Amino acid sequence: MSTASTYWSPLVKLLDPYVPGEQPKADNLVKLNTNENPYGPSPAVYQAIQQQMDAGLRLYPDPNGDELKEAIAEYYALSTDQVFVGNGSDEVLAHVFQGLLKHPLLFPDLTYSFYPVYCRLFQIPYRCIPLDDRYTIQVDDYFCENGGIIFANPNAPTGIYLELSEVERLLQANRDSVVVLDEAYIDFGCESSVSLTRKYENLLVVQTLSKSRSLAGLRVGFAVGNPNLIEALNRVKNSFNSYPVDRLAIAGGAAAMRDKDHVKKTAEKIIATRTWLAEALVQRSFIVLPSMTNFLMAKPQTMSAAELTAKLREHGILIRHFKQPRVEDFVRITIGTDDECTYLLEIIDKIT
Ligand SMILES: *Cc1c(COP(=O)(O)O)cnc(C)c1O
Repeated sequence: MSTASTYWSPLVKLLDPYVPGEQPKADNLVKLNTNENPYGPSPAVYQAIQQQMDAGLRLYPDPNGDELKEAIAEYYALSTDQVFVGNGSDEVLAHVFQGLLKHPLLFPDLTYSFYPVYCRLFQIPYRCIPLDDRYTIQVDDYFCENGGIIFANPNAPTGIYLELSEVERLLQANRDSVVVLDEAYIDFGCESSVSLTRKYENLLVVQTLSKSRSLAGLRVGFAVGNPNLIEALNRVKNSFNSYPVDRLAIAGGAAAMRDKDHVKKTAEKIIATRTWLAEALVQRSFIVLPSMTNFLMAKPQTMSAAELTAKLREHGILIRHFKQPRVEDFVRITIGTDDECTYLLEIIDKIT
């Protein structure tokens, strides 16, 4: 008799897939669970996508996504051979794991939970290095033999940013393996490490248009680094899918990168909301980690994190709770509009 996994490969049996946050079918919920941006993309994105639709979708897209690469290169004053683009930064990261990261890979015990998933898929042994008791990365803990280092900066799910001077200290001590910084949240008030890619040929910076550019639904991510690293990613990509970024995503993504004003203004609004929401939660006796992202990690004191998550859901508010050591007492709350966050506080006051 066949069991569920009779036809599976040995590798598939070993996988431990990532579980994304809930994307509810109902649209009457206040959705603060997957770090989407409440403000929507630049209007120029819709124009660019409409133009592509008018031109027709009959033809394959540019396999290299050059228009998008050019917009990213211009944004960071780079050349296009320092840029790689993909179908969301998750796909870019997958190629990075397969093409550039070796054994033993080092990353913090608390960071983006997709990294150990990729390690299984690509069979890369890894070692987790604990954050200190203030949830901060201690760079000196990474001064050892390794086959690569990766973490999110600002880190997720903590929201805490590692200063550029510390990143540089890490790079100075680690010349022989690739260091990957996942800057998914960099635009919410932090300085990017992209400038350091000129000086350190082993630094790769990965970013996404999902968060600060409000394009989670379009699936666009990119990596920036020395042309030699980018060439490795191109080799993996062209052995996997020649057209990962479709016509609408190339045009829309490029338009989003060109509208610098929109990302700046909407990020400023989110930072302002983050500041008052953090204070309001502290007033309600939550412990709140110092976030430089579009979410807050907050620990309730009057009930468990799981209970708070469940009760908020009953009132139509989605937040995220990770049943993971060291953060299981926290909830992660995406910064919504001022109205959404005011409603969140009203409900918290009602149920606590
Ligand atoms: C959201 C997120 C991503 C994934 O972004 P996509 O481009 O939507 O795939 C990658 N890394 C971190 C740390 C994130 O928070």
